[in-house]
This record gives sequence, structure tokens and C-alpha cells, in this order.
Amino acid sequence: MGSDCLFCRIVAGEIPATVVRETATTLAFRDITPKAPVHILVIPKEHYADVATLAQGDPGLAAEVLATAADVADDEGLLGDGFRLMFNTGTYGGQEVFHVHAHLLGGAPLGPMLARDLA
Ligand code: 5GP
Ligand code: ZN
Repeated sequence: MGSDCLFCRIVAGEIPATVVRETATTLAFRDITPKAPVHILVIPKEHYADVATLAQGDPGLAAEVLATAADVADDEGLLGDGFRLMFNTGTYGGQEVFHVHAHLLGGAPLGPMLARDLA
């Protein structure tokens, strides 16, 4: 993927980001437009379009993304009051950047899971 992908370019250091944690296979950095007091994106360094592709293609790497998210939640002091970890996926999921990323949100009560009741 590389130069066409925003988050591959962040991994490559071509676009600046506020990195809060890096492992051999994952990167965590602050969202440029935070939707909560803590809003961090956690990605695998390797390009996968979305969480389904990642989980089916490399379940071990998916687990490493979750482990990094948990470590960042710990670093940010979120384990006591809780947090939300979510993967927007595809059109209905509202995904805008097609390099899989977990949104780690916390630091305040986050309200209902969905903006509106679809039932
Ligand atoms: P999505 O809608 O794909 O789940 O989320 C994409 C997220 O990426 C959004 O929350 C958006 O604010 C964030 N984002 C978009 N461009 C950049 C950028 O250049 N740097 C950082 N740190 N975050 C970005
Ligand atoms: Zn990418």
C-alpha cells in the first residue's frame, strides 16, 4: 500500500503524528480530531484495510493490536473508569481511513453506543 495510505505514511514517518506507544508490529498515536478527552488510534504497522481483513488474515497481529490498546489504556489511566475500543468498518460503519485502526476513547462518560436508535 504505502504512499497511497495515510496511516502507512504515518508508520513510515512521512506524516507527523503524536505517537504514544510503538511496538515492533503496532503503533498508537493521538487522533488529530479528538472526540473524547482521550482519543488514540491503534494500528498494525502492516497494511490491512479493516478489522475483518486483519482478523482473518493474521489473528496474531489482531491480538497484538488489542494488547497495545490495553497497554495504552493503562498508560492513560483508563482502566479504572473504563473506555471504549471500536473499529469502524466499511460504509455502514463510517470508516474513512482504510488502514485498520482501533479507536481508544475515554477520559469521560462516553454516552450511548450509537448516535441514534436504529431499532
Ligand atoms: P474512521 O472514520 O476511519 O474510523 O476514523 C479515521 C480517524 O482518523 C478519524 O477519527 C480522524 O480524525 C483520524 N485522522 C484522519 N487523518 C488523520 C491524521 O492525519 N492524523 C491523525 N492523527 N489522525 C487522523
Ligand atoms: Zn496503510
